[in-house]
Amino acid sequence: MAENDKTPLGRRGFLRTAAASAAATALPTVAQSKDAEHDHQDLPSDLALRVKALESLLVEKGLVDPAALDVLVDNFENKIGPRDGARVIARAWADPAYKARLLADAPAAIAELGFTSGQGEHMLIVENGPKVHNLVVCTLCSCYPWPVLGLPPVWYKSAPYRSRAVIDPRGVLAEFGTQIDEDVEVRVWDSTAELRYIVLPERPAGTDHLSEEQLAALVTRDAMIGVAKVSWPGKAP
Ligand code: FE
Repeated sequence: MAENDKTPLGRRGFLRTAAASAAATALPTVAQSKDAEHDHQDLPSDLALRVKALESLLVEKGLVDPAALDVLVDNFENKIGPRDGARVIARAWADPAYKARLLADAPAAIAELGFTSGQGEHMLIVENGPKVHNLVVCTLCSCYPWPVLGLPPVWYKSAPYRSRAVIDPRGVLAEFGTQIDEDVEVRVWDSTAELRYIVLPERPAGTDHLSEEQLAALVTRDAMIGVAKVSWPGKAP
C-alpha cells in the first residue's frame, strides 16, 4: 500500500481519478451512446481505465503474458464478429434440422459451424415470430454471446440501454427505428455470465430463392440482439 502511495499516481489515486472523471460525465441517452460508437472520446471510460490498470498490474507482476493478451484481444476484435452469427442464423433458416438442434442446444449447434470460444459455453436462441419479438440486454453489465457476435457495441454496455430496454423496450426499439405492432409481444431477455441470448430473427418474405450465403449477408448484428429486424431489399446483396 505504502509503495503505491509513493508513486506519482498510485493505483488508488489512479482509480479515484478515473471514478471522478466518470462521475463528472452525464449519462447519455441510448441514441448518444449509439453515436459514441463512432466518436472519439476525450477520456477513456471508467471501466476502460480500470481494465488498463488491472492489465498493467498483472503484466508487471508477471502473471500474464502481454503477447498472449494481444492474441486474445485480436481474436475478439478482428476474427470473431457478427458475420459468424449471421452464418448460424442463415443455416437455421435454410436447414430445419439444424434449426431444431440450434434451439435445443445452441452451443453444440454453433460449434458444428466451427464457432467456439470463451464466454459462450451457455447460450440460448430465442426465436422471433409473427406474434413475438425478442430483445436482449444485460442489465448488470455487458454479457454477450462472444463466440458468434464478437465484442458488444458501445451502446449495449451503456446505462441508458441497460435500464431502458427493460423499462420501455418498445420505446428503445423505436429509437433504433424498429416499430413493433401492439399485438406483438416483446420479450426482454437479461443476459448473465452464465447464460447469453441470441435472437433468431424472422426470415424475410421473398427470400426463398436466396442461397445460404446471400441470406447470411442480410443478417445484422442488431437483428441478433433484437433491436432491428432483418429486411429484404428485393435484390441479392
Ligand atoms: Fe453482463
